[in-house]
Amino acid sequence: MTEVLMTCTRCDDEIAVAMDVAILRMDVEPRAHAELLFCCPTCGAPSVRQVVGELLTLLLFVGVEPLCLSEPTLPREDRAPAHRQLTPDDLLAWHEQLDGVSFVTPWE
Ligand SMILES: [Zn+2]
Repeated sequence: MTEVLMTCTRCDDEIAVAMDVAILRMDVEPRAHAELLFCCPTCGAPSVRQVVGELLTLLLFVGVEPLCLSEPTLPREDRAPAHRQLTPDDLLAWHEQLDGVSFVTPWE
């Protein structure tokens, strides 16, 4: 079992965090940092620590399975269409097109 020595932010004890009860959270996009989420075995306080560099490499090397998450995204129907942005000229043209509209029938 892999353990990482940390200091608890609440009780200031030096603690050994067992990796089988901790979560190593990484982005889906490869980055050189991750977060380690764990609870202090002494006081039970939850903590999050940045993991970078050699420690991250070692954790991955010894087989700690990271939880890879991506940025939250909107459903396709809620995303903006892939058109160019509207310009003031577009809005002026739209306004001129509306001059011929006298009324709009609501959906039935
Ligand atoms: Zn603690």
